Amino acid sequence: MNENCLFCKIIAGEIPSARVYEDEICVAFNDISPQAPTHVLIVPREHFASLDKAEADHRETLGHLLLTTAQIARQKGFAEDGYRVVINTNADGGQTVFHLHVHLLGGRPFIFPPG
Ligand code: AMP
Ligand code: ZN
Repeated sequence: MNENCLFCKIIAGEIPSARVYEDEICVAFNDISPQAPTHVLIVPREHFASLDKAEADHRETLGHLLLTTAQIARQKGFAEDGYRVVINTNADGGQTVFHLHVHLLGGRPFIFPPG
């Protein structure tokens, strides 16, 4: 746990969140500022700052995050219609919280490329 990290505090239950899924590797909760009808963040329990800081040891965790994202999309009912998965990375990627997280956005169409 990183004492200065918002998502570590959410994972620890020190800051409330609307959880949609959790297991031994990750926690998923609704984004506080949703950009689509469904906007869920899938977050590893282990703190590492960004995809840029991922190492070979994180291989299983990273795979698990994506499989969990796809599972939540199916549960939400929009998997067949489609959805957007985003990992903002570092400043130019638009990352604001430096605990790696996957955005799952669904329930509307998305354009590409994003802004
Ligand atoms: P990023 O810009 O990729 O680092 O994404 C950080 C996301 O965290 C943003 O979409 C925020 O809306 C979201 N966020 C910030 N604070 C909270 C919070 N307390 N609970 C849930 N989501 C949050
Ligand atoms: Zn953290």
